[in-house]
Amino acid sequence: MSKLRFDVVQDAFKKKAVPAETPEKKTSEYFGELVFNREKMRKYLSTETYEALIDCIDNGHQLDRTIADEVADGMKTWAMEHGVTHITHWFQPLTEGTAEKHDSLMEYDGKGGMLEEFGGKSLIQQEPDASSFPSGGIRATFEARGYTAWDPTSPVFIQDDTLCIPTVFISYTGEALDYKTPLKKSLKAVSDAAVPICQMFDPKVKKVYSYLGWEQEYFLVDEDLYAARPDLMLTGRTLMGHESSKNQQLDDHYFGAIPSRVMEFMKDVEIAGYRHGIPLKTRHNEVAPNQFELAPIFGETNLSNDQNQMMMNLMQQIARKHGFVLLLHEKPFAGINGSGKHNNWSLGTDTGTLLLAPGKDAMGNLQFVTFFVNVLVAVQKHNALLKASIATATNAHRLGANEAPPAIISSFLGHTMTQVLHKLLEVPSDTPIEIAGKKEKSVGLVEIPEIFIDNTDRNRTSPFAFTGNRFEFRAVGSSANCAGAMTTLNAAVAEQLTAFKAAVDKEIAAGKPMNIAFMDVLKPLISSIINTVCFDGNGYTDEWKAEAKRRGLDTEISVPLMFDQFTKPASVGMFTHTGVYTEAELKARNEVKWETYTKKVQIEARVMGRMAQNHIIPAALAYKTRLLNIVTQLKALYPEDFESMAQTELALLQRVTKLIEEVRTKCAAMVDARKAANKIEDEREKALAYHEIAESLFAIRRPIDKLEEVVDNDLWPLPKYRELLFIN
Ligand code: ADP
Ligand code: MG
Repeated sequence: MSKLRFDVVQDAFKKKAVPAETPEKKTSEYFGELVFNREKMRKYLSTETYEALIDCIDNGHQLDRTIADEVADGMKTWAMEHGVTHITHWFQPLTEGTAEKHDSLMEYDGKGGMLEEFGGKSLIQQEPDASSFPSGGIRATFEARGYTAWDPTSPVFIQDDTLCIPTVFISYTGEALDYKTPLKKSLKAVSDAAVPICQMFDPKVKKVYSYLGWEQEYFLVDEDLYAARPDLMLTGRTLMGHESSKNQQLDDHYFGAIPSRVMEFMKDVEIAGYRHGIPLKTRHNEVAPNQFELAPIFGETNLSNDQNQMMMNLMQQIARKHGFVLLLHEKPFAGINGSGKHNNWSLGTDTGTLLLAPGKDAMGNLQFVTFFVNVLVAVQKHNALLKASIATATNAHRLGANEAPPAIISSFLGHTMTQVLHKLLEVPSDTPIEIAGKKEKSVGLVEIPEIFIDNTDRNRTSPFAFTGNRFEFRAVGSSANCAGAMTTLNAAVAEQLTAFKAAVDKEIAAGKPMNIAFMDVLKPLISSIINTVCFDGNGYTDEWKAEAKRRGLDTEISVPLMFDQFTKPASVGMFTHTGVYTEAELKARNEVKWETYTKKVQIEARVMGRMAQNHIIPAALAYKTRLLNIVTQLKALYPEDFESMAQTELALLQRVTKLIEEVRTKCAAMVDARKAANKIEDEREKALAYHEIAESLFAIRRPIDKLEEVVDNDLWPLPKYRELLFIN
């Protein structure tokens, strides 16, 4: 095995870049060619059907059965021109990633032959065997089946030989079993709550969109080295591994030159993304060695999230062409940065106004400040819940671990907006909020710059930072479905906007002009947020932890306990009033969360136990045998001064023996803890017990990593960090 490791490392190092595809057309000419977008709808559908379908998409109506057949027929014609032979409903169950079950288009033609068939019925609805997807007991209690239904707001696309139809996944009794359904409800909720406010500024506004721009971080590892690490293969992260002498201390990887093998991979990823209509924009090296990032131009949240799910799938497939395995785990390697997925989020009207950016005039700025402040109030009120919305067993390794994000949700506003808020508290409520430089500067004027040039300065320690025209929710994990965080954020903001509008209406009914009514309601809210959720300092320090606690922000670090937030009265009230989740759904989802947490840790604990037993202890014993042989021979040769001759060997022998013993006893204790935890029936209690086991894995890792430091390099069976992280 030691020989093998050496060979594997050599071979991996010598690998040359595999050239990316070279499309014959300009990007803009093939962009979206695998998506049944508006242009194709127009081409493949009759004018009436096209208009009916667009109406469904724009206004969220159900697709009429009578036109579904024609829509399906048009899709089939288009898809078959691209060699499609299968269709699938593509959905996002509460597992990781997406689910698809492919059916071929083949049907008997009734004349002894076969033909390709795709009717409206199979476009609109399917009934996958739902019993194997997590439901948190919903199906056990109510009904065994679930169904998927087309979401026309997300376009149908082709992947390989299969036509993929984005769908929601629901139980027969109507409960959501996926990420998409509640996300769509939250988008409606935030629009419904925001529109009446926007209409006070511009009566033409009919709809408010939630926008998402995700930044996907990931690691690449050579596939041969990956295959030699059972922990990476089974858990997505290294459970052990001594840190490399060189890691990220020189800051030489961030924005560095992209290695050629990786560059070709990135080009292929972009080509695939463009074909699927995904507006990829940015690619670069990240902070940690072998860590990279990909980001598109932001878009409507539901669509952008589907595109993120597609990209995660595509990237994993394309990595293999280039001899890599792509790691989406939040913390594949200890001691260096983990991976997140910043969710850049904002709201905008169908008339083209971005609601989290300064406006053109005083009223536009009042609208901006209104949305800005209300978002922060929602984040303050639901800070614990928002943290719960990004909490998973895997993201737990980032939370509070001295890297983005800390396990406390606070918001960085930057100097300019902090000053604006303070100023607003000082001036009379009818003071106009001007764009800087447009009016003579005078004392008492509230001014904001049109564009935040210096204000988008980066406080990387803040989990929810204002970056000029949006908030950046940085706590989201790299493997997450963005919908978890985006649903909670949109719903919380919707609830707050509704409360705000009611308060403003009251002031106006009492005779106040609109701008004064707004400011009078905003002022106490501003006072409240600047003393709680707004924090521009270093989020990693212990002082901040103490200060945050004093401010009443949630500082919980146990993931299973964070999930309790979903069923607290304030959360249930918020989710039910906004129509995003029912209480039954919240309870069921928590069961799934606890169960998933337990299973993830359980798998890690098993892998750890077996690797300790089958890889680490045998390698250490082989080294120990070597030492013993030398010691025995020394004793035979130098019976007199044996002690002084064998000093090094004896010291090493002692150290190795002690470390092996530590690994063995700690593993045994972990197995006992697991046995006890497995007897627990209640999912929450079980997850809490597994939280302890997760902590114990760090303790087992310590002597293993020490052994790696001591044992002969030739005897060490697992590729080391220096090999996994520096070959590309
Ligand atoms: P950073 O400088 O923070 O690393 P990038 O420029 O790589 O950010 O990515 C920022 C992301 O934010 C992109 O996806 C971008 O399209 C998105 N974004 C920009 N403006 C908005 C907005 N108003 N709402 C939502 N997302 C936005
Ligand atoms: Mg960013």
